Amino acid sequence: MAEQLNQVFVPRGFNELFNAWTRFPEAVPFAGGTQIIRSQAEAELRLPKIILSLSEVGELRHMSRTEQYLEIGAMVKLRDIIRLGKIVPEALTRAIEGIAGPQLRGLATIGGNICNPGYQLDCAAPLIALDAVYELRSAQNSRWISASRFFSPPGPALKSRELLTRLRIPLDQWDFSAYRKFGNRDSGSEGGVLIFIMKNRKNILTDLRVVFAGECILRDRNAETFLTGKRLPLSFRDAQEFSVRWRQSLQEAGRPSPLIRSEILGRVESLIHNLAD
Ligand SMILES: Cc1cc2nc3c(=O)[nH]c(=O)nc-3n(C[C@H](O)[C@H](O)[C@H](O)COP(=O)(O)OP(=O)(O)OC[C@H]3O[C@@H](n4cnc5c(N)ncnc54)[C@H](O)[C@@H]3O)c2cc1C
Repeated sequence: MAEQLNQVFVPRGFNELFNAWTRFPEAVPFAGGTQIIRSQAEAELRLPKIILSLSEVGELRHMSRTEQYLEIGAMVKLRDIIRLGKIVPEALTRAIEGIAGPQLRGLATIGGNICNPGYQLDCAAPLIALDAVYELRSAQNSRWISASRFFSPPGPALKSRELLTRLRIPLDQWDFSAYRKFGNRDSGSEGGVLIFIMKNRKNILTDLRVVFAGECILRDRNAETFLTGKRLPLSFRDAQEFSVRWRQSLQEAGRPSPLIRSEILGRVESLIHNLAD
């Protein structure tokens, strides 16, 4: 027989939410619930004993934009982010479109995607590449943290009873975005997403970011800086140097599995050589 649920809290604002969380510190935030129930094959679902539903906290569903950035509440559904259209940077749109099917994206939230314990889900790589920042809130205060510092193995940098409330994504103009997903977690393998974005201003490569996120974050900032400011198309030699640096970074990282590392390297090499003569 399924274990009985003890309690489900459905707070209508932050005060109620943090009051409940202070009284029941073991309560687990519940957004769309899709990751929480993922990979449960039994007929009866196993749910956390005490659930803190985020569904009625209106502040978590806000979206707004200025000239500089797009702000998205943690409870915004993945489907609704895609529906914003061209405002959303292509790297993020493509990563979201690669997550399951439309029905699941209508339940799953961006906050649940970012806060998964253990490993990073598919939105992490584009958010890191785009320099997104996250607002984290507790009963006492709130703080901002960059997407690149948010995940420090073995999990998200959330303190006890801290909630992700919203994220800010800078709205830069990226001239080329590529997305590639590796592995299949539902069949038990390691996996992750690689994002490659670049700016081309009058045939000068003015910015380049290549980020993999999964069990770990892989990024070689020195290799990116090495190519920044170079004329496009790149020389074969510069493209080759970039590949060599990435190969070395992957070797030093020692993660994910050798198979996925070799697939990542293959993809990085092919993307960078496409920018060369
Ligand atoms: C069949 C299936 C296929 C899937 N395929 C993919 C895929 O291809 N790629 C992918 O990335 N994901 C996939 N997922 C996982 C999941 O659906 C999404 O990543 C989704 O975005 C999770 O959001 P959610 O709202 O359902 O999170 P939930 O399941 O509600 O929460 C996930 C975790 O985050 C915590 N949490 C949620 N919101 C907050 C918050 N605001 N602050 C602090 N902690 C919070 C929860 O406590 C929980 O630990 C799949 C899921 C299923 C069931």
